[in-house]
Amino acid sequence: MELQNWKRRTVLLHTASNEDIMEEVRWELDLRGYGHVKIYISGGMDEYQILHCNPLADGYGVGTAISNAPVVDFSLDIVEIDGEPVAKRGKMSGAKQVYRCTHCLDSVLLPLKSDPPQCPCGTAMEPILSSISHPGEIGKNAAHAEGVRDYVLDQLELADLIAP
Ligand SMILES: [Zn+2]
Repeated sequence: MELQNWKRRTVLLHTASNEDIMEEVRWELDLRGYGHVKIYISGGMDEYQILHCNPLADGYGVGTAISNAPVVDFSLDIVEIDGEPVAKRGKMSGAKQVYRCTHCLDSVLLPLKSDPPQCPCGTAMEPILSSISHPGEIGKNAAHAEGVRDYVLDQLELADLIAP
């Protein structure tokens, strides 16, 4: 962690379940003379985790645990804005595509506009991610459960399910 000329007063760790990281960050801040920097924790926080994190954290970001409405819990990371790759540290920037071999099921993650790669087994890999929502058209292209089931069953026939 490089802290030269660092003027921030807080850090946000989205890692409520990893006490080791919280402890390490506190240690490194204190060791370098940044004991005044507060640590805020988020990521699935509830009243029980807050009690557990109190010795290390100065504040919390709480969302789902205090929601009054039914929750569809998910997370996302912004990786691209108007075609420009952006991401916070620890995340790969830019839109991506996952290509999968229909023969051996190997997969590879590549930038979205990459050409489909050739699998080492010799088969052309196919993109497996597609957009299912657009403004005002949520779910228009979403697969139905039966279609997803059939797709998974087709792939299971290719998978070697016996452990070595
Ligand atoms: Zn292959």
